[in-house]
Amino acid sequence: MTPNTDMTEKSDHTFVDANPADTARTEVGNYFVSNYPLYSYWQTEQTPAAFAALDAAPRPDDPLGLYIHIPFCRKRCEFCYFKVYTDKNATQIEDYIAALVREMEIYGQKPAMQGRKLRFVYFGGGTPSYLSEKQLHHLVDGLDRHVSWADAEEFTFECEPGTLRKKKLEAIKAIGVTRLSLGVENFSDDILKWNGRAHLSPEIARAYDWAREVDFDQINIDLIAGMIGETEDNWHKTIAKTIEMAPDSVTMYQMELPFNTEISQEIRDSGVTSPIADWDTKRRWVDYAFNEFIKAGYEIISAYTVVRKGRGIAFDYTRSLWHGADMLGLGVASISHFGSVHFQNVHGFNQYVTDLAEGRLPIFRALSLTDKQCLIREMILQLKTGRIELDYFRDKFGADVWSDFEAEYQRLAGDQMLKRDNGSIELTRRGLLQADGLLPGFFEPGFGGVHPA
Ligand code: SF4
Repeated sequence: MTPNTDMTEKSDHTFVDANPADTARTEVGNYFVSNYPLYSYWQTEQTPAAFAALDAAPRPDDPLGLYIHIPFCRKRCEFCYFKVYTDKNATQIEDYIAALVREMEIYGQKPAMQGRKLRFVYFGGGTPSYLSEKQLHHLVDGLDRHVSWADAEEFTFECEPGTLRKKKLEAIKAIGVTRLSLGVENFSDDILKWNGRAHLSPEIARAYDWAREVDFDQINIDLIAGMIGETEDNWHKTIAKTIEMAPDSVTMYQMELPFNTEISQEIRDSGVTSPIADWDTKRRWVDYAFNEFIKAGYEIISAYTVVRKGRGIAFDYTRSLWHGADMLGLGVASISHFGSVHFQNVHGFNQYVTDLAEGRLPIFRALSLTDKQCLIREMILQLKTGRIELDYFRDKFGADVWSDFEAEYQRLAGDQMLKRDNGSIELTRRGLLQADGLLPGFFEPGFGGVHPA
């Protein structure tokens, strides 16, 4: 579960309090920052800017990625805030696949796309592995007619363990997937059930063994710190079990409660106390996990990711996006970045399918970024890696980001969240564990900033 393109189409980021106090409960609201400016500033009136960006001259050397949203799941998890459907039949899924292919065909004809190669591909959701082998082949054969991912350096495919069979994994490998991401989240069957996950622990073990036999270049395990019912003891067991399985990388998110989850709804409707561990506890758990993974030969590459050290393993999808790469997002509610324009597809399944059946790109809102917004976006996203290089921003934007944002950086340095180290700014472990809470301090006044300059 990599929060990516479409997570906030229903509830924009609303910062209940940036940088929540250590003892703060996990209340309803978002802290996770996936983009800047926030989605609520994107406007339907700005969609012509998206079409203009697609009609501009091609930039063959600029990195480009493709995100494909598969919005189907076996069951809706209690904490889910993604655009997903659990009730679509085979005909509707085929209609959706036809729409994805048509969308790619239209993009492929745009002037700005000519001569451009894909650097990364990401099948996210939802649950891409929900597709049958036949549906997957329809989709990939269709896309293949309009785009080639033969040169892509990384091709990620998200899976829910219970949807996998060895034959399906072989089919996933055969389409070129290099990075298989398993949405494990936890190994306790009680916790998986309480949180509404569709899979249980025997399915994790089976899927992981098959994935190893099929021999993907990289297998990632996704975990969540702070699921309903999580305890110190179980979290330690979860980390020990993950280390025993020896995945190539691990992603970990601290549970939060955006407005449109089942849990948030219950808290709001019946006034029950949040069942999620407080922020201090979740940070302690991720801190513990970081230390255990380091002891086991992993290194931290972002606030959410550890990778096996010395094997050249990366997570190119986020690295590219956080360095301003273009990305086309196919699918309902998907988000694209092209040139300096962000845009998003319509939220409705039927509207999405109909628009494409009638030959229209289903873009419904956009935002054309100023140079300063492009700089802030890259700076805050790269801060999530725990380190930014000042020369990078000097070379790309002609800016000295330390001086430009000195008051905020000094404030965070005073709070032991970060330090300046010659040519870089480095988050401390304390800062890294709450990286998202630090970022709104850099937002512009009028764009959700909580510490206006
Ligand atoms: S598996 Fe659960 S969390 Fe992931 S997209 Fe589906 S419903 Fe949401």
